Amino acid sequence: MDKITVLGAGTMGNGIAHVFAQHGHQVSLVDPSKDALEKGLATIAKNLDRMLAKERIGPGEKAFTLGNITTFTEMAPGLTQAQLVVEAATENTSLKLDIFKQLDALSPADCLLATNTSSISITQIAAATNRPQQVIGMHFMNPVPVMRLVEVIKGYSTSDATLKKVMELSKALGKTPVMVNDYPGFVANRILMPMINEAVESLHHGVAGVAEIDTVMKLGMAHPMGPLQLADFIGLDVCLSILEVMFKGFKKDKYAPSPLLVNMVMAGKLGVKSGEGFYDYSSSKKAERVAPQFL
Ligand code: NAD
Repeated sequence: MDKITVLGAGTMGNGIAHVFAQHGHQVSLVDPSKDALEKGLATIAKNLDRMLAKERIGPGEKAFTLGNITTFTEMAPGLTQAQLVVEAATENTSLKLDIFKQLDALSPADCLLATNTSSISITQIAAATNRPQQVIGMHFMNPVPVMRLVEVIKGYSTSDATLKKVMELSKALGKTPVMVNDYPGFVANRILMPMINEAVESLHHGVAGVAEIDTVMKLGMAHPMGPLQLADFIGLDVCLSILEVMFKGFKKDKYAPSPLLVNMVMAGKLGVKSGEGFYDYSSSKKAERVAPQFL
């Protein structure tokens, strides 16, 4: 597949565009926000510089990768001759349903439509189109250029041909695709989010402090990052919205978001991106100091 369109130039979209462009695909990167496109391209350039400094890429690869990316603020011109669209816009169900209706109307008939959603039903998104057999989940992990996993989600109507193409394409990008079926949270978040939620509940019930809970999981389970630090990195609003999708989807108390997590999101304490979550990021983006609330 030569021509790939990536919708959304935020955290995930710029990483996805980077990886496709580095592997020689012509990428159209679409975001209604000019600012997001500029920041996205700057992030790609910075990440390529870092890879060059570590000798992971050759000297010509930065210009080659950036040369394969064209940016658009509107969808239609960015879809000309697209063979695959990877949607990585804001995690909001009505926005995604609207985007997929537009994609169905504007993209070539044989174009495959993938979504990078963390939690929204692929089957529901596919049903907004007249080509549900060509709709699939392609759940890349953050940071995309570094993380090897792609969770490939087969919706109720996704065809085997679509699945095969996306599995092969993911491998060609140097990733390891894993096929999973379409149920709330898929596999990654179905396992990860209850762990994070339980860590928040342990803090809420005073079982241990922030640093202690993270240390137990880092040293005891050999996790590279504790669950509370990881929640700050992902964004507490994102964690809450994924838990809410699972709670609604399974109707089981075990997925009910911790009241402490709900309160923190309502207070605007979203983790690294807001400057405070379980840790204080006012002077460093590293989780070096526990937030004053939890001292
Ligand atoms: P983000 O907020 O960083 O970026 C979203 C971008 O989408 C913004 O730049 C916004 O301007 C753009 N956008 C909004 N409407 C659009 C439209 N109609 N067309 C094109 N772009 C549009 O969000 P993100 O963290 O990159 O998340 C994107 C998707 O990836 C979400 O579905 C999220 O659940 C999923 N995801 C996120 C992570 C993560 O760690 N952040 C990991 C895996 C999957």
